[in-house]
Amino acid sequence: MFADVKTTNDTHDTPAVVFDNRFVRELPGDADASNRRRQVLHAAWSAVMPTPVAAPQLLAHAGDVAELVGLPEAFVRSPDFARVFGGNALLPGMQPYAACYGGHQFGNWAGQLGDGRAITLGEVLNARGERWELQLKGAGPTPYSRTADGRAVLRSSIREFLCSEAMHHLGVPTTRALSLVTTGDAVVRDMFYNGNAEEEPGAVVCRVAPSFIRFGNFEIFTAREDLALLEQLVDFTIARDYPHLVDIADITMRRAAWYREVCERTARLIVHWMRVGFVHGVMNTDNMSILGLTIDYGPYGWIDNFDPHWTPNTTDAQMRRYRFGQQPAIAQWNLVRLADAIAPLFTDESVLQAGIDRYSEVYVADYEAMNAAKFGFVRRGDTEQQIIRDGFKLLYDAEVDYTNFFRRLGNIPDELPAFEDDDRRGTVTEVFGNLLETVFGEVFYDRAKLHANVQEISDWFSRWHACVRTQGRSYEERRAAMHAVNPWFVLRNYVAQQAIDAATAGDPSLVHTLLEVLRTPYTEQPQHTALVARRPEWARYKAGCSMLSCSS
Ligand code: AMP
Ligand code: MG
Repeated sequence: MFADVKTTNDTHDTPAVVFDNRFVRELPGDADASNRRRQVLHAAWSAVMPTPVAAPQLLAHAGDVAELVGLPEAFVRSPDFARVFGGNALLPGMQPYAACYGGHQFGNWAGQLGDGRAITLGEVLNARGERWELQLKGAGPTPYSRTADGRAVLRSSIREFLCSEAMHHLGVPTTRALSLVTTGDAVVRDMFYNGNAEEEPGAVVCRVAPSFIRFGNFEIFTAREDLALLEQLVDFTIARDYPHLVDIADITMRRAAWYREVCERTARLIVHWMRVGFVHGVMNTDNMSILGLTIDYGPYGWIDNFDPHWTPNTTDAQMRRYRFGQQPAIAQWNLVRLADAIAPLFTDESVLQAGIDRYSEVYVADYEAMNAAKFGFVRRGDTEQQIIRDGFKLLYDAEVDYTNFFRRLGNIPDELPAFEDDDRRGTVTEVFGNLLETVFGEVFYDRAKLHANVQEISDWFSRWHACVRTQGRSYEERRAAMHAVNPWFVLRNYVAQQAIDAATAGDPSLVHTLLEVLRTPYTEQPQHTALVARRPEWARYKAGCSMLSCSS
């Protein structure tokens, strides 16, 4: 049943992919090779085979990711590709395993978690010398599956597949997605945790990243007082994933430089999330990448109306620990957990504090620069800062769409010709009130709030408009610069949900369309304006369109 792909047939050649599986070669593995659920001690990984599925079929793939890992298009289109990336066959050189890690979930230490439904197939070395780990998600039980089934449903697999690629093309560090394979098997889920379990179609996504190591991989060894393994993993991570640091001769300085860089990368990652309005939803330490990548797409979301208190995750609806505006603080909290985990390797812990301080420094500087860029400012003086602060307050008070507002702001010219000869232009309110209605009307979720705040908004626009014209750039330059940081397209939940509904009913064409549109998110695509409309009223409370549970 479980076969290696070795055959060459007339539709394709077995691709000559080079695997160099350092994780399993250099770190100790689990002696038990079964997928029996258990605590795995003194090991960084457990060998485990994907569980074959009934009828693997390729639903979508990212061509540029296939190229990255050296898989030719002819192979991607062959049935063998779906077999390998659905979990029914292996390519020569693959050595499947699940990693052991722990984590803090919602603020509490949760003990061993591990790859409960993720199975790494191997580490590809591509022609450019880059390392890309291939990992199936939803490929069946592992020793870390605890009480769950190791599977993933189609809806969450579409969300992970599309969003990984959307984030990449937005310029946000992220794991990538090679393929989305439907399994032909049903998976049972209780979507709302209300006792109504239902069968849903299953799927397997192949994720791709240079490393899937998480903060939790370090935490578990420290929690078990396995300091030898902790040390080994830290030095392995530096050697494999931070090779530019290996030249630092002093080992303590090398490890300190590494932690500092993890802090810097994490800071930059969160600034990107804030820029594009992404809310991860489950920032547990097992979902924090050691490379500062966005990882584990679950109940994530994109803010529609600007609301720092919003979280897409229904499981977190009470505490809102992982709400949009709290992400920077949570990332830092998670970095402190990582510092706690690696502290036994340092006699002087002040170097770890220096890393934490560095996080704040990089975050604040990058965040301010990023916001200035979003508003079209080159300078960051008191005037600009005040306009930015007041701008965010208005976006919140008047329930304005975050993405579409910034995109339209970039289109406001230096002169406002439509009102030039208008004798009513005497008052700021009327000029900007008109402008607001015609140019911005569509970005307000509640028209009444636009009208209630029109005086304040008009005043704000007039201050912004006067200030943005003093930045030493032409309108064209400003617009190009603003459009380069303010995306035209983001993968809104309600849009992804439409693709999911259609694909579940047998029509994957919207998945394919979205995969195309998300490749150039900073370019206006007039034929697809329906995909960037602010969230329609019907989607406000519909499952999957605004709020999601962790059940996937
Ligand atoms: P998450 O919150 O999705 O990052 O998952 C937390 C932990 O639960 C990880 O150890 C996952 O591998 C595990 N997990 C989540 N869903 C499943 C599933 N369907 N089967 C097995 N393990 C799972
Ligand atoms: Mg996870």
